[in-house]
Amino acid sequence: MSEQQITDYDVTIVGGGMVGLTLACALARAPGLRIAVLEANQPELDWAEGSIGLRVSAITHASRKVFEQIGAWPAMLAEGVTSYSQMHVWDAAGSGEIHFDGADIGNPSLGYIIENRVIQAALWRQAQQLPNVDLLCPARWQQWQESQQCLSVSLDDGRVLRTRLMVGADGARSAVRERAGIQTKGWGYDQHAVMAIVRTERSHQATCWQRFLEHGPLAFLPMHDNYSCIVWSTSPEQAVELLALDEAGFAARLAQAFDYKLGAVLEVLERGKFPLRLQHTLDYVKPRLALIGDAAHAIHPLAGQGVNLGVLDAAALAETVLAAHAAERDLGAMHTLRKYERWRKGQNLTMMLSMDGFKRLFGATQAPVIAVRNAGLKATNQVLPLKRLFMEYAVGSRGDLPQLAN
Ligand SMILES: Cc1cc2nc3c(=O)[nH]c(=O)nc-3n(C[C@H](O)[C@H](O)[C@H](O)COP(=O)(O)OP(=O)(O)OC[C@H]3O[C@@H](n4cnc5c(N)ncnc54)[C@H](O)[C@@H]3O)c2cc1C
Repeated sequence: MSEQQITDYDVTIVGGGMVGLTLACALARAPGLRIAVLEANQPELDWAEGSIGLRVSAITHASRKVFEQIGAWPAMLAEGVTSYSQMHVWDAAGSGEIHFDGADIGNPSLGYIIENRVIQAALWRQAQQLPNVDLLCPARWQQWQESQQCLSVSLDDGRVLRTRLMVGADGARSAVRERAGIQTKGWGYDQHAVMAIVRTERSHQATCWQRFLEHGPLAFLPMHDNYSCIVWSTSPEQAVELLALDEAGFAARLAQAFDYKLGAVLEVLERGKFPLRLQHTLDYVKPRLALIGDAAHAIHPLAGQGVNLGVLDAAALAETVLAAHAAERDLGAMHTLRKYERWRKGQNLTMMLSMDGFKRLFGATQAPVIAVRNAGLKATNQVLPLKRLFMEYAVGSRGDLPQLAN
């Protein structure tokens, strides 16, 4: 391969999803850094007016601040962001319930519901404008060779990139992680999340609703008008059965499972299902390599934290790399990368295990456990300082936050 076909980058990010693009935009604030993003699939940048994408995320204030600081937030706002001010959670197997109100933490908003395609498109367009970011798409790496100073990455179209740091932001089934020989620990939940966009008879009142059912939680996330995105975690068999129903049958089952909290379900747009598992990598870094987002950790969606943890990974890694760059230290050296790993691994694990604990607590069917959890919900609902603490974690204002999220 001749020298002309090789392009040098400081950082090469594999995966131009929500997390990889956040990292690219955050790193690009140092004009001296050259950044490549390899994305296998052309992202959806345009869509029919009025259509709603099936994949939707609850976004924390911490993530919103990161998006603001890297310049992508105005485009998200322009395409559609629903702010929610309250959250209501209750147990189908008892009378326990808990209600969170943003006013209790002095914030009229507890967070935002945004379509994933809106987030990705805003970040993509922002990255396109940055002179030190190259978006290579469609592009996949084929192999890479390590030397002391860099990695030489061959792409499937014959190009070769030389990079001082490679970042795997390629999702839960990360091929970068696999090629690097980084092991994961975790377990399947034997659950699928059924997602759908629906319109309900009654207004959602800018509230996130979640009812814990026998097979898992059913959440309604508020969108524009009376539309909501539902995330229904259930057994794989029930997920297949729900998706096989016609629209009227699905609408009836959904309204009943939700105890008619928002009245009848009047319209069902797209539907789909996603398998759920908990997964955490044993290492976040190796020499010249780091993992962020779902490539490092996959979490149960019941508290809508997955992408938010990934955005904080991206902001923390950017801060670590930019500090090394400013001090003229090696970006890909282990003493640089370990700082990122120490910063994020413990915080991600804490959140993952808390969500796993909630999932197990609410999945239990033994009468004594049901009684205790209902009593716990009621008690927590009455203790404002405890509720404030929960809310501060949920909005992302607790923990050791990167500067971009402050
Ligand atoms: C049902 C459900 C509901 C959820 N709800 C929420 C929520 O409300 N809030 C929240 O915070 N999180 C939520 N999550 C989690 C969230 O969706 C993920 O955490 C998030 O998508 C991870 O983003 P990512 O960029 O790390 O990975 P991904 O979104 O998986 O993106 C990876 C990117 O890498 C690309 N790629 C993969 N392999 C290659 C390759 N070899 N070469 C080049 N490119 C490659 C892919 O095309 C993709 O664009 C939910 C998850 C599920 C399943």
